[in-house]
Amino acid sequence: RAKADGKGCHHFYNATVEHAVRAQQQRLEELKLAIARDELTVFYQPQVNTSTRAVVGVEALVRWRHPIEGMLAPGAFIPLAEGARMMPLLDAWVIRKACTDAAQWSTLGIPLRIGINVSAQSIDLDLVAVVADALQQSGLPAELLELEITETGLLTAGEKIASKALHQLSGLGVQLSIDDFGTGYGSLTYLSTLPIDAIKIDRQFVQAALQERPAAAIVASLIDLARNLDLRVVSEGVETAAQLDFLLSSGCDVAQGYWFSRPLPLREFGHFIGAESAPEVIL
Ligand code: C2E
Ligand code: MG
Ligand code: MG
Ligand code: MG
Repeated sequence: RAKADGKGCHHFYNATVEHAVRAQQQRLEELKLAIARDELTVFYQPQVNTSTRAVVGVEALVRWRHPIEGMLAPGAFIPLAEGARMMPLLDAWVIRKACTDAAQWSTLGIPLRIGINVSAQSIDLDLVAVVADALQQSGLPAELLELEITETGLLTAGEKIASKALHQLSGLGVQLSIDDFGTGYGSLTYLSTLPIDAIKIDRQFVQAALQERPAAAIVASLIDLARNLDLRVVSEGVETAAQLDFLLSSGCDVAQGYWFSRPLPLREFGHFIGAESAPEVIL
């Protein structure tokens, strides 16, 4: 029928778009309820010292345990949450949850620095209040909390308020890192005005480093840059022993990726770090 006349085509197109729009709206309503219904959960991925292989940190990565579709990765709902300006709500939920879990590991004698991703949308003075409250409620030492912000996020966050918020967070003792470093367009001049403690080298460079000379040079230069600026550096997306060897020889102290472990549910991560001696605390 759609092919019978030009108008039909148009109707067909409209129907498809309308259907997609309705599906998005429905998913957005579901997502709003998901937070209230505790359907969100956090997976944890270890960060490992490249020479000693000790787990020194962890990244918190949100998941949505969808009642019908199963476990959804952030790519399936974060863009939607951004569109609806829901990220402050979502990020606050993850911050509270992840600080609570990290405080328990710390209590068990396994103090890990925990990286939590924060959307550009969330970087304002409310975030400072959320973080201060989460630290106080959980008892997690501020130095163990690291907020990960993308370069693009740093640029798009309304400059004045965002930089005020970041300075206040830094004042609390919270660490700040630039996520996916090297993929954005942040100038070093701008970044040097912010209280940054660490950078995370994006996995596209790490993974290309053994194939392409430019990528290898970029990784080596970023590690040097971090060194010279007294920033810690974490390499993302390490999937092979060869990539790990390259990072080790380039002077990168900490790495994260499938080579060590995928992001794990709370209990499995507890086993991974040897916190299973007190499962009732981890549960
Ligand atoms: P990201 O912060 O750069 O996180 C790293 C992503 O790379 C994660 O994807 C992780 O599962 C994946 N990954 C880790 N190791 C490897 C590896 O060796 N190979 C490959 N191919 N991938 C690896 P995930 O969990 O799907 O998260 C995607 C992005 O969603 C994150 O990128 C982050 O930007 C965002 N995100 C995740 N959780 C949150 C959150 O709670 N709040 C906010 N605002 N953003 C979040
Ligand atoms: Mg991250
Ligand atoms: Mg990243
Ligand atoms: Mg990345």
